[in-house]
Amino acid sequence: MATDYDAPRKTDEDVEQDSIQELQARRSDKSSGVVDEDETEAAEGFELPGADLSGEELAVRVLPRQADEFTCTSCFLVHHRSQLAYQKKGQMVCTECAA
Ligand SMILES: [Zn+2]
Repeated sequence: MATDYDAPRKTDEDVEQDSIQELQARRSDKSSGVVDEDETEAAEGFELPGADLSGEELAVRVLPRQADEFTCTSCFLVHHRSQLAYQKKGQMVCTECAA
């Protein structure tokens, strides 16, 4: 039964040694990793004011479809459901295209 306790302990030691080796390997890569972190922070800081300024315009274009919207299969624009002229075979056509 003692060997049963020893076996997992040895495995843990091996895992620790492996993780230490991984850390040491990562440290050598950190010179390039630091640059990535800086770029990420800069991008996040830049994204916040940009989203506030153009939030409304982006929302119209980026959001594919809202629950009360549909994508016209003719002009591929997203319209409100009130602009749905007709729907057949899964194709939705807006009033502008149907006119
Ligand atoms: Zn259309």
